Amino acid sequence: MNAQREYLRRHQKLEMRKSYSIALVTLLALLTLTVAVAGVERIANKFLLFVRVAQLYKQDPPRKIMMPLQVSKKEIANTWRAPRGANRLHEGQDIFAHRGTPTYSATRGYIYNIGQNELGGQTVSVIGSGGRIYYYAHFDSYAPGIAEGDYVTPLTVLGYVGTSGNAQGTPPHLHFGVYTPTGAINPLPLLTDRAEPEKPKRKGVRG
Ligand SMILES: [Zn+2]
Repeated sequence: MNAQREYLRRHQKLEMRKSYSIALVTLLALLTLTVAVAGVERIANKFLLFVRVAQLYKQDPPRKIMMPLQVSKKEIANTWRAPRGANRLHEGQDIFAHRGTPTYSATRGYIYNIGQNELGGQTVSVIGSGGRIYYYAHFDSYAPGIAEGDYVTPLTVLGYVGTSGNAQGTPPHLHFGVYTPTGAINPLPLLTDRAEPEKPKRKGVRG
């Protein structure tokens, strides 16, 4: 009787161990599959971006682009190629605005890169027609949910004005650069003001 009970107990233990291993193997398999699918998707997305970029190169670059901020173009003090340090020239324009001001894409295109670097801090690069790259730097934070490969328009928020990178200690501003396939160009002549956002109409006031 005792021997039989002992046998049953052992058998149960063995069964439990077996189901544990099956669960573990299943979990591992699922994990591997998830990682593999995510990897394939990432590669597919990269490929898609590559194809889109190749198409963009064939198109003419825009002659006019939108101000990335709700700031008038007149307020930009031209600092194109102003000396920065001993052996560097300013390859863009600085647009000053309150910290946290939303920064929109100046053009249509695809997000080419979202990343941190020493000078620019938190930056976003968008590639547009003509293979031009629009570079937005010194963000305090990125717009939530943006990802590399995303299609953007001048209504897409990319990030929020700040002082990251070498802008630490300066008034918050957006560093905006435009790079053609052969080098940086001055963004200022290309920029056009954004339309003022519609002000809510006051009720009951005439004239
Ligand atoms: Zn700058």
